[in-house]
Amino acid sequence: MAAQALSERDLAFMLYELFDAESLTKRPRYADHSRDTFDAAIETGKTVALKHFLPIRQQVDINEPTFDGERVHLLPEIKPALDAIIEAGLAAPETDFEDGGMQLPLIVTNAVQAHLWAAASTTFGYISLTNANANLIEAHGSPEQVEKWVKPMREGRFMGTMAMTEPGAGSGLADLTTTATRDEDGGYRITGNKIFISGGDHELSENIVHLVLARVKGAPKGVKGISLFIVPKFLVNEDGSNGERNDVALAGLFHKMGGRGHTSTALSFGEKGGAVGYLVGEENRGLMYMFHMMNEARIMVGTGAAITALTGYQYSLDYARERPQGRLLANKDPESSPINIIEHPDVRRMLLTQKAYAEGAYALCLYGSQLADDEKTAETEAERAHAHTLLDFLTPIIKSWPSEYGPQANSLAIQVMGGHGYINEHPVEMFYRDNRLNPIHEGTTGIQSLDLLGRKVPMNKFAGYRAVLAEMQQTIEQARDSELSLFAADLQAALEELQQATSAVLGATAEKNPDLVFSNSVSYLEMFGHVVIAWIWLRQGLAADAGLQRNPHPEDEHFYRGKLQAMQYFFRSELPKIYHWSKLVKEIDSTSFDMQPEWF
Ligand SMILES: Cc1cc2nc3c(=O)[nH]c(=O)nc-3n(C[C@H](O)[C@H](O)[C@H](O)COP(=O)(O)OP(=O)(O)OC[C@H]3O[C@@H](n4cnc5c(N)ncnc54)[C@H](O)[C@@H]3O)c2cc1C
Repeated sequence: MAAQALSERDLAFMLYELFDAESLTKRPRYADHSRDTFDAAIETGKTVALKHFLPIRQQVDINEPTFDGERVHLLPEIKPALDAIIEAGLAAPETDFEDGGMQLPLIVTNAVQAHLWAAASTTFGYISLTNANANLIEAHGSPEQVEKWVKPMREGRFMGTMAMTEPGAGSGLADLTTTATRDEDGGYRITGNKIFISGGDHELSENIVHLVLARVKGAPKGVKGISLFIVPKFLVNEDGSNGERNDVALAGLFHKMGGRGHTSTALSFGEKGGAVGYLVGEENRGLMYMFHMMNEARIMVGTGAAITALTGYQYSLDYARERPQGRLLANKDPESSPINIIEHPDVRRMLLTQKAYAEGAYALCLYGSQLADDEKTAETEAERAHAHTLLDFLTPIIKSWPSEYGPQANSLAIQVMGGHGYINEHPVEMFYRDNRLNPIHEGTTGIQSLDLLGRKVPMNKFAGYRAVLAEMQQTIEQARDSELSLFAADLQAALEELQQATSAVLGATAEKNPDLVFSNSVSYLEMFGHVVIAWIWLRQGLAADAGLQRNPHPEDEHFYRGKLQAMQYFFRSELPKIYHWSKLVKEIDSTSFDMQPEWF
């Protein structure tokens, strides 16, 4: 069943027909590339995924990491599989040729790694977190720090983590208590406890580079007193070899419902007097630097959620095509053979919902990667700034929409397969468990909703908000005179509703209690997310319509018609939900706010 985890036809459609990734080869940075080199990199990603990860996917889930008090034990097959990614140059294919990378656009990198996410699931997290860690140090560290830490991470010798969360500081990082003390020679010693640190200990690499948020003694309270430190597992000698063990200890591993390829650790810093830490940038600006990694990680989380949804969809689709059960209502003949379940309209509803969620979510994530490319390599300064504004605004939606709807898609994959979906003979129950983390880490959905409504919308005189609305308006104009004009009209009405809700809720902040006004912020995020996904679907619909105009061969015609049907499904069954969310937002509905803790 499902030798392949993803639809290559769909990946090619999104890359080349929807987002025209080939046009990037006109930019100087990608001048050595062509569609052929893009496709070759994607093919390599697929080969490594199918050879090294797909065969061990279930074993990784069953054999969770263990800690014997001294060492962490992982399924032995994990290391060679990760090494295969590194050796194939797939760990950071977007980096410069001179740093050993392939200098690929981020949108293509996303597609290259899609096969790895699909087959390796959360094991790929070791690689992606390391990459994001290296990118942060490259952006904000000193040249010496880049040489000492980034280089070995790029070479795959070191891995990296992001160490923010503490027992008393999860969503509220302002309250973190890990302390940095200046020592006599101008260095820092770190003491404190971090929890839930992914990849915080293992023996997959020579060293682990923790990026730790801590408060320098005497720093102001709150987020303005947080600094960022590089705290390695092993100190590194002048010649680059590993020195003595730093004062970072593994206090224990957490047992998770999913994501079992990736260790989740409790780390103690400074039990023996203080772990050596190296300040990144300036004191008290640590959270600002960490946002470099967090923003990247948020897009990564959305992408992982979308791909896990796509993988479950593909698996349950293959199953539904082959599983005979029951007969159509119109058929009264008990002598007739049972039909495959895909013939039942309700099964098609569940498949269509998954398709609408998963392909909508992944297309949004690829759009995010395209904006990240434009931010760096678009021709003019104005275009680069515009892409930055759009990406910054959309980040909470790119993080949270796939994270919320990905698990819903995976739940439907289980439902399509009935009891066979619930047992671990098939991987769909694992996809659900893996994906369920995504609305929690990198800022919960609740936190993303406050970020969107409280910060991103009003920021810079509504610049991001207006820019996103203008992009959507452009697609509406394009679709207005096409076969898809009815969908353009629906999206236009949804945009107007969104604007009314935005004015009403932000207008209320002046006179009402902010906790009341923002008590429906998740409904606002849901509404905005659904409007954005409807827009992304309209864009997919336009691309599919263009495909149909080219008189495709029958298989492609089926593909395009499937896209149009999924778009229609989203517009008919999902988009109308925004009117319910909008009502709660506009009326500043106080039901949750008024509910008293004692009344539960
Ligand atoms: C498997 C796993 C891997 C992780 N990996 C890492 C990692 O590598 N590095 C790292 O630093 N952290 C990591 N985390 C931690 C993760 O980021 C936190 O769990 C997350 O930020 C939530 O914090 P919390 O668990 O303390 O929940 P809390 O902050 O206690 O939140 C509990 C609930 O309260 C809500 N809530 C809290 N504050 C507010 C508020 N102000 N307004 C409205 N609602 C609020 C939340 O939305 C949530 O629903 C990981 C967690 C897990 C489970």
